[in-house]
Amino acid sequence: MARNFWSLRFVFFVLILSLGSRSLPAQTPEDPARLAVDLTDAPRHVFHAQISLPVKPGPLTLVYPKWIPGDHSPIGPIVDLAGVKFIAAGKEISWRRDSVDMFAFHLDVPQGTKRLEARMDYLSPAEANGSREHPSSTPKLALLNWYVLMLYPQGAKSDELTYVASLKLPAGWKYGTALPVEKESSGQIEFAPATLTTLLDSPVITGAYFCDVDLSPGQKPQHMLHIAADGPAALELNAAEVQHLRQLIAEEWALFGARHYRRYDFLLTLTDHFPSDGVEHHESSDNRTPEMLFLDPDIREMHMELLPHEYTHSWNGKYRRPTGLATPNYQEPMLGDLLWVYEGMTQYYGYVLTARSGFWTPEKFRENVAVIAAYVNDRPGRTWRDLEDTAVAAQLLYSQPPAGSSWRRSVDYYDESLLIWLEADTIIRRESKGKKSLDDFCRKFHGGENTAPNVVPYSFDDLVTALNEVAAYDWRKFLTDRIKSHGPDAPLGGLENSGWKLVFTDTENEHQRSEEAAEFNVDAAYSLGFQVHAPVGPDASLIEEVIPGSPADKAGMAPTMLLLAVNGRKWTPELLRDAIHRAKESSDPIELLAQNGEYFHTYRVDYHGGERYPHLEPIPGKTDVLTEIVKMKAAPVAAPAK
Ligand SMILES: [Zn+2]
Repeated sequence: MARNFWSLRFVFFVLILSLGSRSLPAQTPEDPARLAVDLTDAPRHVFHAQISLPVKPGPLTLVYPKWIPGDHSPIGPIVDLAGVKFIAAGKEISWRRDSVDMFAFHLDVPQGTKRLEARMDYLSPAEANGSREHPSSTPKLALLNWYVLMLYPQGAKSDELTYVASLKLPAGWKYGTALPVEKESSGQIEFAPATLTTLLDSPVITGAYFCDVDLSPGQKPQHMLHIAADGPAALELNAAEVQHLRQLIAEEWALFGARHYRRYDFLLTLTDHFPSDGVEHHESSDNRTPEMLFLDPDIREMHMELLPHEYTHSWNGKYRRPTGLATPNYQEPMLGDLLWVYEGMTQYYGYVLTARSGFWTPEKFRENVAVIAAYVNDRPGRTWRDLEDTAVAAQLLYSQPPAGSSWRRSVDYYDESLLIWLEADTIIRRESKGKKSLDDFCRKFHGGENTAPNVVPYSFDDLVTALNEVAAYDWRKFLTDRIKSHGPDAPLGGLENSGWKLVFTDTENEHQRSEEAAEFNVDAAYSLGFQVHAPVGPDASLIEEVIPGSPADKAGMAPTMLLLAVNGRKWTPELLRDAIHRAKESSDPIELLAQNGEYFHTYRVDYHGGERYPHLEPIPGKTDVLTEIVKMKAAPVAAPAK
């Protein structure tokens, strides 16, 4: 503690010098900015804020966060910022937005002004509108990312600015956050002073239907699960789920050997009005899933991997971060070229830890990996765009529509990298004759000493060096080959090395079955070449994407068409499956009536291969490394007493 005190004093000294030289206002711990957020109108989708900033007279440019950590994209929701007013010495002063940088506000601070007040509202979209501007409230809950109501001096580093935040909640709402609280009474919370980095890294969830679950009772540091839901029934998680979450914490600790947070808070928002998503933070994660997560086994199967993924990011992504993503503030562009490590290795361990913690059986894990292997293997876009370019272009690809995604490619540095890190894991095991694994790399690269949140940036060279320290191998060539490959086939070497191969049978894949039950209608991606999505009106359903080169593509079908009839009869999922099944014994094409804009046409799909679903099948005579990888590594955690 004493060491921290002195190091902080040193930081303040540097801060005063550096800010002084740039003529920026202070915002030091002695003279912090104050941010007061009022969420009492959150049920009506309006968040109010006042910021009081220490300033100096003269020209001042304040900026609104543009590049959002974890989203890896310039998506600060500036379009939803309204009611912006600046007040100095009780008088409103004029402002002008920068003509080029939409996130910058120019002001002239009057003589004698020591503090400037900014007032603003954030208009939270009520529903997802297709862009990456996510809704942040419903009538019964809200997610507060402080960046939606934030201004800070242009050019300042977020580590060097201190904010004291306070929050007012709707009557009776509870809340959860990793941000340390100074004091609170009747829905009014004052938080401890925090750097802008920590503040923006510490979102809050709040709601009328809320519960807390202690995931490490009696232990330090504390791990809490906070759940806000649109209704009370959704809060009912069972003892087995609590046990798996406690096992998850034990497994992550066993994997990394040290942590880089003071406490950890899983924030879980259960609502059908936010798109399912998650954002990682050092000391918390913001997890959003459908309301019925704990009540519908198919929804749970679809989304339970989210928490292990986001928690893993506390080490891989937040603590160890690619240099290009370790930016000094939220205006500096982020470089995504190493996202196949940041997101890709997290995707791998998210899956592995979902199995190690008991949420998935080894069979479920294999079914999930089979879906990924089949998906990646089926992307013709790999022939023109390599994996690295999907990472470099992350800021474009997160918001792309599904139509055309197999040719354009999507954020494939998640799924394709899972296969690459599986292969790396099997190579380390092979080269070290079973003594080492990728787990040893994680312990070395992401573990070390227990620390508070801290960023240790790394380059591609650092990654190669660290892998070589675990197992000598030409990692530079291995990784370069994988990220620059134009396929066309997916990197399936890890499957083969671990004793498994990708096969297709007419038995439905377990994960796809849950996906169909929870999200859409029929997955015929590996037979006809499309999935049938949500109904559009009483008779038609949307075909979001048609895979180039597939039978449906060859028959002239295209993304965004509406499916109306199968072999002349009004379409149903059962009818489509039956038609695919029967076409196996016939030479007649399957006739699909579809609507393209205002026109209708019957497409004759010449396909006779029957239903095809991906699975993993053991390779005879090969050791099953995959099951070893997903075995529980920590001591089993006891079931909670109910
Ligand atoms: Zn992630």
